[in-house]
Amino acid sequence: MNYYSTNDSAAEMSFKEAVIKGLPHDKGLFFPKEIPSLPASFFEQLPSLSLPAIAFEVLQPFVAPDITAEDLQKICDEVFTFPIPLVEVEKNIYSLELFHGPTCAFKDVGARFMSRCLQAFAEPDRPVTVLVATSGDTGSAVANGFLGLENIDVVVVYPQLGVSEIQEMQFTTLGQNTSAVGIEGTFDDCQALVKQAFSDEELNQKKNLSSANSINVARWLPQMVYYFHAWGQWKNLNPEAEEVTIAVPSGNFGNLAAGLLARQMGLPVTYFVAATNRNKIVPDYLETGVYTPASSVCTIANAMDVGSPNNFPRIQELFGDDLEALQKVVKGFWVDDEKIKSTIKLVHQENGYMLDPHGAIGYLSLQQLLPDLKTPGIFLETAHPAKFKKSMEEVLGQEIELPEQLKVFKGRQKQVTDMPNDFAGFKMLLMQEHKEGTL
Ligand SMILES: *Cc1c(COP(=O)(O)O)cnc(C)c1O
Repeated sequence: MNYYSTNDSAAEMSFKEAVIKGLPHDKGLFFPKEIPSLPASFFEQLPSLSLPAIAFEVLQPFVAPDITAEDLQKICDEVFTFPIPLVEVEKNIYSLELFHGPTCAFKDVGARFMSRCLQAFAEPDRPVTVLVATSGDTGSAVANGFLGLENIDVVVVYPQLGVSEIQEMQFTTLGQNTSAVGIEGTFDDCQALVKQAFSDEELNQKKNLSSANSINVARWLPQMVYYFHAWGQWKNLNPEAEEVTIAVPSGNFGNLAAGLLARQMGLPVTYFVAATNRNKIVPDYLETGVYTPASSVCTIANAMDVGSPNNFPRIQELFGDDLEALQKVVKGFWVDDEKIKSTIKLVHQENGYMLDPHGAIGYLSLQQLLPDLKTPGIFLETAHPAKFKKSMEEVLGQEIELPEQLKVFKGRQKQVTDMPNDFAGFKMLLMQEHKEGTL
């Protein structure tokens, strides 16, 4: 498969080039040249297929010929090792639990898949250093996704005071080929340092730098897999049912763009909901036709605090910039923090189901929109509630137990290089040879 830039359909690149480059020069996004249709036989078998088997069928055309069928099978077997169950919350509303991976968030899927692709492309005598700036979740998913891989080092750059304790433990205690740099500054400062590193000539001569940005095609495409898996499970539970709506709690809109791509490949989803917190750029656009990026505002669903969603051009591309066509399929919805909190509380009381702040937005969107849409609904539960222990405990007024994946970090030794927000020092650190767990 070749990929073009959403800003210039003439310039094409292979999958390998698109993964390594991450972003086209013209600041567009890589987009597949063709969108294959999956055969009816695939959908008939889907309810009984395993996750790795679905992943192989769905992703094969997108990675060939750069990744061989044999390598892809191996990658899918290694990536999709945890369950992604569909759980009934109440009549006609189901939760797709994407939080059973190593860092308890859906980003595990993309980060793990991308790590194996980069490894398949790495040259043995030129190890790759992956630089990732994070405000919390991305750093842990990427560091865990790449952990233990040969020929690749990961450096997580984060604001010393800007991440939760659990998040910090998830990327500062792993060691091996991962290391962490705590910056005296904000997330934006971290992002600026990483950006400057990519444009520093001397550094790039010495090191083979790569980014694990969320817009990389190798992080974006594998997210399609769980939409197919969700539909298969839903068919198992409702063999007669035809129509279904999927609600996607969204920030940068990579996850929703993947769902819409799956639909284009033939997945029979009737509607999608673009569900957001108060950062409601896309719901506003769906309502008014005017797209106005803004500064992000802080909410309790903080992984979705995005004012300028970087994957949105992919959604526009999928619908050929046709607003009416988009509106027919994608319904907008947004809520404020108070409503998120009361929803978490109510669903916990009434249904005994614990929503996290992000999933709660998806749930609520279904509860409000399904009577009009007249279909059952599935929402994506994008992270484990315990990742937001403090706010969850405030809302529910009870202690929340950590899942096993998060418990193991307690009491581990942090290994961090703390430094001021200063590029010269940051560069010097990166220029040094890598030693286990440190730079
Ligand atoms: C990243 C993230 C989202 C938003 O996903 P996008 O693909 O950026 O729209 C939602 N929920 C959680 C928990 C996340 O970590």
